Amino acid sequence: MNLISIKNLKKSFKTQFIETFAINDISFNIKQGEFTAITGPSGCGKSTLLSVLGLLEYADEGEYHLCSKDIIQLTASQRAEVRNHHIGFIFQSFNLIAELSTLDNVALPLKLRGVAKQEYIDLAYQALQKVGLGERAKHFPPQLSGGQQQRAAIARAIITNPDIILADEPTGNLDSENSKIVIDILLQLNKSGKTIVIVTHDQALANLAQKQLTMCDGQLIN
Ligand code: ADP
Ligand code: ADP
Repeated sequence: MNLISIKNLKKSFKTQFIETFAINDISFNIKQGEFTAITGPSGCGKSTLLSVLGLLEYADEGEYHLCSKDIIQLTASQRAEVRNHHIGFIFQSFNLIAELSTLDNVALPLKLRGVAKQEYIDLAYQALQKVGLGERAKHFPPQLSGGQQQRAAIARAIITNPDIILADEPTGNLDSENSKIVIDILLQLNKSGKTIVIVTHDQALANLAQKQLTMCDGQLIN
């Protein structure tokens, strides 16, 4: 079953003088349970594509079906609902809130949904244990290493039990040892049934994926 279906997708950024075609007529499908890597040189549109897949940005043209929903037709609040229920997003720069404890960062998506306190605390501990960070729940992000911060970000992404995990250069700010830990966690999540899409310019990481989508100048070249 296709979890993601993209057809003739386009997105450009217009400034006063130029229009940059970040995504220029792209079509592909991703099946449930697949691990996909989007690769290609800097500036070729990878982050933009992932942001459109993650409903963080709008496409200009084309079709996008996610979990059998016609995304293009949704209202803003319906998009937010799909994002909250189906998608976990992981950023290169972790995007944790420095003023909140690791536990509170991880619990945030559940708090925003109105989940009861004891339940979100229990689930946040479980998510932290899954990424090997149970001992760091009370620490604040600035007290964690880069690798630990990214593991906390992964815990935050999985706490809502999303169908799909999108990760933009998840190892881009990590040394090789921490990269390996993060990759192993993503592979494990994939084994447990999660559909995963990562953006990476690390070919060794891309080679671990079942499927590679290679971009160049806003288009797919494979
Ligand atoms: P990649 O992730 O492959 O490095 P991006 O998706 O970040 O590529 O960018 C694709 C192209 O779109 C680049 O030329 C970039 O400068 C441009 N771009 C991306 N985001 C914006 C934006 N918000 N405003 C203007 N141009 C953008
Ligand atoms: P990445 O490291 O993923 O390729 P960047 O660090 O280049 O992405 O971009 C980070 C953010 O800045 C993204 O949200 C992207 O959309 C935006 N961006 C990228 N290029 C431009 C640009 N030329 N003008 C404005 N915003 C941009």
